[in-house]
Amino acid sequence: MCGIVGYVGPRDAVPLLLEGLHRLEYRGYDSAGVAVAVDGGLRVVKTAGRVGDLRKAVPEGTAGATGIAHTRWATHGEPSDRNAHPHVDAASRIAIVHNGVFENSDRLRARLVADNVPLASDTDSEVLAHLVARSSATTLEDAVREALAQVEGTYGVIVMDADRPGELVAARRGSPVVLGVGEQEMLVASDVTALVRFTQQVIYLDDDEIATVTADGYRTSTMDARATTRSPTSIDVASAEYELGDHPDFMYKEMREQPEAVDRCLRGRLDHRFSSARLDGVGLTPQDYQRIRRVKLLGCGSAYYAGQLGAQLIEELARIPADAEPASEFRYRNPVVDPDTLYVAISQSGETLDTLAAVQELKRKGGHVIGVVNAVGSTIARECGHGIFLHAGPEVSVAATKSFTTMAVALAMLALDLGRVRDLSITEGRRLVTGLARLPHQIAQILAGEQEIEAVARKYARAEHMFFVGRVRGWPAAREGAQKLKEISYVHAEAYQASELKHGPLALIDPEMPTVVLVPDDELLAKNTATIEEIKARGGPVIAVTDAELPAGLATDVIRVPKAHDSLAPIALSVPLQLFAYHLAHALGRDVDRPRNLAKSVTVE
Ligand code: GLU
Repeated sequence: MCGIVGYVGPRDAVPLLLEGLHRLEYRGYDSAGVAVAVDGGLRVVKTAGRVGDLRKAVPEGTAGATGIAHTRWATHGEPSDRNAHPHVDAASRIAIVHNGVFENSDRLRARLVADNVPLASDTDSEVLAHLVARSSATTLEDAVREALAQVEGTYGVIVMDADRPGELVAARRGSPVVLGVGEQEMLVASDVTALVRFTQQVIYLDDDEIATVTADGYRTSTMDARATTRSPTSIDVASAEYELGDHPDFMYKEMREQPEAVDRCLRGRLDHRFSSARLDGVGLTPQDYQRIRRVKLLGCGSAYYAGQLGAQLIEELARIPADAEPASEFRYRNPVVDPDTLYVAISQSGETLDTLAAVQELKRKGGHVIGVVNAVGSTIARECGHGIFLHAGPEVSVAATKSFTTMAVALAMLALDLGRVRDLSITEGRRLVTGLARLPHQIAQILAGEQEIEAVARKYARAEHMFFVGRVRGWPAAREGAQKLKEISYVHAEAYQASELKHGPLALIDPEMPTVVLVPDDELLAKNTATIEEIKARGGPVIAVTDAELPAGLATDVIRVPKAHDSLAPIALSVPLQLFAYHLAHALGRDVDRPRNLAKSVTVE
């Protein structure tokens, strides 16, 4: 999480750093700070709050040609001015910004205290500034190397030294760091988002790599000081994709972009001739496909729910046992890794630390893992080597929208491809290809019905709790719907399998407890209709989200979506749930792009 930015070059660093931070704010936003090299010393300004607060706190005339900045998502120590980064050593010579967690910081802090080093914050990060300052190495890079050798945990860091203005040292382990190469200037950031307005030439550092950056270039090496050769790659996103344009917020913009995003995800991948999908990036032959005995999908949050949706599609279409699991659980439970299983790691940013760790654990045990990732060049994409890129375009809002939809679409294509290598008939394959090709238009139709969804959302804005229920195909979409609502509106929302209601949660149904019921028009329609009756009989309001023609008066409110292919219905059904959560959150006056306690791209454990 959190954003780090560094600049070295001829221009004044302060506005560039603030602009970079502003772009990264979605990654963490409880406090922010900036440090620049000025007149042989450091000028540090930091504050609890948002980048906007920092902008106001920076005194007029603060300027410097080298600087670092940070927007924080606190892990150690409350969000406050003193805990905001950059942190400096006692002499205010070394400044650091850190993304990640130093797990042995207690021990390191105790050692520093024993040596009478005054600590100015409660963070784990501060130790790094002191450790670098205490090093007797002759270069800043070696001092950082020595200091980092003493820390355990994860980091993306940038370090500067007032005695060496014009130089920054950056390093990473587990948290992303990317260098931006400009004309006689260099930037460093935790995410290309901060760089796109300045340069399209970037270098993604590898784990355990360290870089020294000056205005005229960069030098990279491993933590054990072996030089590495890295040439820049071009990023192909236009900076306009990171702009809000006329939209009120990024979540809105990204929901609206879904028809186009899904279209891009599908482009060139639907194989009309063989009624299948063409997923060259997966890198598996039909023979490899035949050997797969299980599929295991791993992700966190919405990516996990998309994985659950994908697992169902794979079982349904390819008849291969498949299941999804939160990547964090998987990595810590000493999983049995089986050579006949295809593992699929799902992550929008490609930097989700738990998913990355699961990938690394899998590779260590000889498992075959592919990535389903949005960010090209990201760590998970590179670690996996093979997989499916979502091509959804940048997603800035914390709440996943177009990434969830495109993940589901990508997994549907994987299920189709696996199915067609096995028993899925050409006729059924053709129906699915047609169904997938129609999705962008259907999503556009759902978005066009926004006003009705908004009216329903406003009607329920006073609810304190809400249930989301679905059966089989509707279940992962119900989980994602509940997640969306709770994360941006803070209304307590829980998802249940519809069949589980009577085994406990039904006790909570009363007129104050609305239930959103997902009702796909499939073979379980009658069961879902019965669920609605069951809830109504207890006086609970029901919002049915459906592509079926329901009897009038069955549900209290109905949100209709166009009829999709049965297997793809959950994808269509999840779109109105985003709009529902969005408008309900707005009705409550929430900041949907920056929900409390959350951040995009979870690069800490
Ligand atoms: N662990 C550090 C802190 O709590 C950095 C957190 C972050 O990545 O923002 O200050």
